[in-house]
Amino acid sequence: MATKCAHIKANTERCGGYAVTGSRYCFAHDPAQATKRQDAQRKGGEAGRVATIPKSSLSVRKMSDVLELMETTINDVRAGRLDVRVANAIGYLANVSVKVIQQTDIEARLEALESVLEPEHATMVQRRRAA
Ligand SMILES: [Zn+2]
Repeated sequence: MATKCAHIKANTERCGGYAVTGSRYCFAHDPAQATKRQDAQRKGGEAGRVATIPKSSLSVRKMSDVLELMETTINDVRAGRLDVRVANAIGYLANVSVKVIQQTDIEARLEALESVLEPEHATMVQRRRAA
């Protein structure tokens, strides 16, 4: 049967943890485990940290920009340089960018069409008034 940890807490209560095999203390209180504890804490810290790409500023004004961003992001995720959560956010924002680019493109085309059609429309109205 496992023995309880021999550590006495500041409030004079005994630690409720089970002693590590070959020790009187649990993993958290065994002086022999100090290095392993520090390694575990460091690894835990690294695991919680979000992998991001160093400061960079990319233009996302054209479809080709978005395509380039997606290509870079896919490769960074595959190589483990970028956290999947960051990549998901980039994917979402890229999707928004695509919609804005498409909308802007439609507006520009519409304006171009109107600039061609409107003079004609204006002369038709003038002819009707004259008749
Ligand atoms: Zn303990």
